[in-house]
Amino acid sequence: MPRVIMVLLDGLAAATARQCLSYPQALEEAGEAQYAELMCFLPPLSRPAYATLLCGLPPARSGIFHNGGSGPCPAPTIFFRAQNAGLVTAAAAYYWMSELCNTSPFDPALHRLTNTPGMPIEHGLFYSNDAYPDDELFHDAAALCQCFAPDLLLVHSMGIDHAGHCYGAHSREYRDAARHADGLLARWLPLWLSHGYSVLVTSDHGMDADHGHNDNTEATRRVPMWLLGTAWKNLSMPSRQTEIADLALRALGLTVGVQST
Ligand SMILES: [Zn+2]
Repeated sequence: MPRVIMVLLDGLAAATARQCLSYPQALEEAGEAQYAELMCFLPPLSRPAYATLLCGLPPARSGIFHNGGSGPCPAPTIFFRAQNAGLVTAAAAYYWMSELCNTSPFDPALHRLTNTPGMPIEHGLFYSNDAYPDDELFHDAAALCQCFAPDLLLVHSMGIDHAGHCYGAHSREYRDAARHADGLLARWLPLWLSHGYSVLVTSDHGMDADHGHNDNTEATRRVPMWLLGTAWKNLSMPSRQTEIADLALRALGLTVGVQST
């Protein structure tokens, strides 16, 4: 049975990914990873892009155009569909993922540690501080992987986005955050790949020199995507973020195009 890990490196622009993420490019050079760049939809903001990645709808169809809401995705998410098919689901992610997939508003006392059979994300470790260290986030993901052997796991780090908001996309700090994430990928992905996972690495949006990602520019919209592992072999590379949810479901061996609710 194929298993999938989605790594979402929040706020990583494609140009910085190409400069600073050497590990996945090493696999590319060895013929063991596929790479593509996608343009995220407008507005290039986190919550609208999360919804697009989770349920395949662009903001104009999800109705999620800004970061201020707390409601759920308006269509079944990949977690709903995987869990509904009997697969084990897990996420180490920013708390907006809990709101979009599981329940809202987010209450840290109730939802930071989620172990609820029947929830779309059954096993979750959700953080709510944008400065949550990426090392700890990857440790959270590794612990979920070890404890629950999920079929679908989301690994969602915020360190690159946080550095971009603090220092801008042209700063050494932003590049260093990307390099740090590269080191974490190099540490954890070989293990996860050796356990039979296929891994998708991407970002929700980019970052600009004004410390943000609201504008309609290449810097804010162009994001990287790598596919590693065997489950993607006979699947075509997506060209839009709306295709990623279906790609993940197909990699898991699930039917796509027929929504369960
Ligand atoms: Zn974001």
